Amino acid sequence: MKYQSRIIILFLVPMLTFLSCRRDLVEDESRLDEHTERISEIMALGFKREAIVDCGEDYYLVDECYLVPKKGDMYNRDKTSSAEGSKSIGSGKKGQLHTDERVYHNHIKMYIDNSMPTTGVDNWRNAIAASIGHINGVQNINLLIELTNNPADADITVSSDNGVLANNVLASASFPLPNGKPGNIINVNLDYNGNQTLNEGQKIHTFVHEIGHTLGLHHTNGSMYWPGHNLVPNTPQVDGNSVMNGGTAGHAWIGFSGYDIVALNYLFPGVTISGPGYICSSGTFNIPNAVRVELAGQTQTATIAKTGTNTYVLSRTGQNRGPVTINAFDWAGRVKSMTTNVAYASDPKYMLIPATLGQNYMNSGGGYHVSIDNSIPVTSCNWVVTGGNVVSGQGTNYMALQVNPNYGPGDQTITITANFSTPCDVSPNVISKTFIVRPAGTGGPGTPEDPI
Ligand SMILES: [Zn+2]
Repeated sequence: MKYQSRIIILFLVPMLTFLSCRRDLVEDESRLDEHTERISEIMALGFKREAIVDCGEDYYLVDECYLVPKKGDMYNRDKTSSAEGSKSIGSGKKGQLHTDERVYHNHIKMYIDNSMPTTGVDNWRNAIAASIGHINGVQNINLLIELTNNPADADITVSSDNGVLANNVLASASFPLPNGKPGNIINVNLDYNGNQTLNEGQKIHTFVHEIGHTLGLHHTNGSMYWPGHNLVPNTPQVDGNSVMNGGTAGHAWIGFSGYDIVALNYLFPGVTISGPGYICSSGTFNIPNAVRVELAGQTQTATIAKTGTNTYVLSRTGQNRGPVTINAFDWAGRVKSMTTNVAYASDPKYMLIPATLGQNYMNSGGGYHVSIDNSIPVTSCNWVVTGGNVVSGQGTNYMALQVNPNYGPGDQTITITANFSTPCDVSPNVISKTFIVRPAGTGGPGTPEDPI
């Protein structure tokens, strides 16, 4: 079935295009009569008889866009989930849909040829530039479209239709090519609908829609059951605001719908970074779709190197430690960042740190917090307090204690001991600190109490 779908797309490309086919085809009533059963099946899906056009030996063209085989399986059952496969095609899943062929070039150049006027009501150039800007502006897609003045450099060429498109067809576009490049043609009917004058918003809507076709988006109000139509996951049955809905010539641009954004993110996934929140000596990060990955300046702490298609290894430099930020860039120079911590197990800096105690004194009966530096996780910590008691936080790196209240000759110190581990430690750490206990309210060098 995959092979069959590929054939369909190859068939589509030279023929072009999603809208011009109808005009070029002569409906053959006698042939249609030979296939009344299939015609009936298509009409049962809600399409009108006049929307079904004979399109060569093997297909009908339906609703100016969709190719339906004349024989055999009418839809791609291998694209249905088990639940959806039992539904009728008419009630089947619609949503944002993409072609079999995917666009893998994410730096696309577009050329507007001389058949497109530079002045007057038929000047589409500002609208084209705005349309490109709307697509480039979608957050976190790994795609950049640029205009070029060099036709030999162009992935997509924009031309007047030169009278080819029917009066009621505003524009057409070709679908992606098998080599991973976008559809290479967008034609604009400058005499659309009796030479109707279009405003900028109408032109932008149309052109974003056409670019969407070149990038591999079908009509949102199509069906995943048609050949070569693949559902974009997590898109709904109906999306009335989708710029990719068919039959919207003359609509004004209102922006992408949320699910259009979902579709573009699905087709052109942006850079993401995933990996550990800390490393001990080294750690592996998964960073797909990046063209450049580097540290944001902390090269004395660590280095990062590519080790696989999407994998990068961050390695500690010597015995250094501290936060480092990984920056990953896409084609367009857009950056994704992730900060992680580089730890060094033997570094004494991340031992016991009393939260408020800069002095060597605690007050009799006073409450205090003590903690362990948590630049890396403390996987376990057992607190032992002699001369006081643990109030809360046992087992964690942040503990509240109360000093014994009875100041006296035999009870003038408090000793706090932490037995803790971190993922970077070869063996558990033991840290102990002793404070002199002073009578409550004596002031002097005692540290302010810390409510617990
Ligand atoms: Zn369309």
